[in-house]
Amino acid sequence: MEEIRTRWGDKPYHSLDYHLRETFGEKVYRISLNAGCTCPNRDGTLGSRGCIFCSAHGSGDFAAAADASVTTQIEAARQRLWDKRHCRKYIAYFQAFTNPYGP
Ligand code: SF4
Repeated sequence: MEEIRTRWGDKPYHSLDYHLRETFGEKVYRISLNAGCTCPNRDGTLGSRGCIFCSAHGSGDFAAAADASVTTQIEAARQRLWDKRHCRKYIAYFQAFTNPYGP
């Protein structure tokens, strides 16, 4: 077990965080975006209560408000990460609700 922990950092498995550090030479942060979508389990197509593990914000509680453009959301998050951690690398992804369900 000790050998594995040494090989993959502090975890007994090859985590995405570890992989990204190895690939890019530093920690890569995530920026969660909100495209203003809904989902078929909330809009009545398949249901209206949503999945039991999903929050009222479509599990996008830490994503920006959907009324800001994606570009604005990314720039604001980049600035926050820079101010807080001097983060230079990130992956932006659509978090809130079901984004393949969008127009
Ligand atoms: S956004 Fe995803 S997790 Fe949340 S209720 Fe809809 S399908 Fe379920």
